[in-house]
Amino acid sequence: MADRFYTPDSLVPGEYVLTGAEAHHLATVRRFGPGDRVVLFNGDGHDHPAEVVAADRKRTLLNVFPAVTADRELPFPLEIAAALPKGDRGDFLVEKLTELGVTRLTPLQTERTVVQPRETRLDKLQHAVVEASKQCGRNVLMRVAPVTRWAAFLAAPDLPALRLLLHPPAESAGRVLPGFSAGAGGVVVAVGPEGGFAPAEVEAAEAAGWVRVGLGPRVLRVETAAVVAAGWFAAPRS
Ligand code: SAH
Repeated sequence: MADRFYTPDSLVPGEYVLTGAEAHHLATVRRFGPGDRVVLFNGDGHDHPAEVVAADRKRTLLNVFPAVTADRELPFPLEIAAALPKGDRGDFLVEKLTELGVTRLTPLQTERTVVQPRETRLDKLQHAVVEASKQCGRNVLMRVAPVTRWAAFLAAPDLPALRLLLHPPAESAGRVLPGFSAGAGGVVVAVGPEGGFAPAEVEAAEAAGWVRVGLGPRVLRVETAAVVAAGWFAAPRS
């Protein structure tokens, strides 16, 4: 993957000045200078190849070339809703789900959720999305939704038709992931907190058309369960 730098700005061919942390990273950390080629991305689905014209520690002047379509997205929506694990494990979750092509992550507030991410932490998670996208080549950013209560999430009007709730296998009637494929309509997978979903939460989900699915006899961490499920649907079938 080329050397990629992120900007939230829209990009058109011609001169562009990159500022802030990304400019610092480009010139001081990576030591790019005049004549070097890099790729800018802003989440619009394209690579924006560019050449460095001049760089100091705070600003980089670039000559941006015409955009190149570089679609590295899955052909269907893949959504994960999860009670976020604490600290670095939350960042790990975001990094891996971004790499796997997940389209939207919704942090859940459930009955047994311990962590209530504050706005600053959501900013940090959004930053982890950008960093992972640089590395893996994604040109569309995974959306991190605001923290959503389980009941409100179940009632959301825009969820994919296939809705799976990860739950201990003893309570999942033998249903396993290979029994499901996403189809063009996509899939949403919900992962409970370390204490699991409460019985009433599972019942409410089933009433809303969700299906319980087990991942085997061991109790997985939230981030492991989420990555396994995303990986199952994200892996190419041909
Ligand atoms: N003691 C809890 C375990 C929670 S683990 C319980 O009995 O439910 C956190 C979340 O990860 C679970 O709510 C579930 O969504 C998912 N998970 C972990 N291990 C799993 C497994 N073996 N099968 C299905 N889901 C699992």
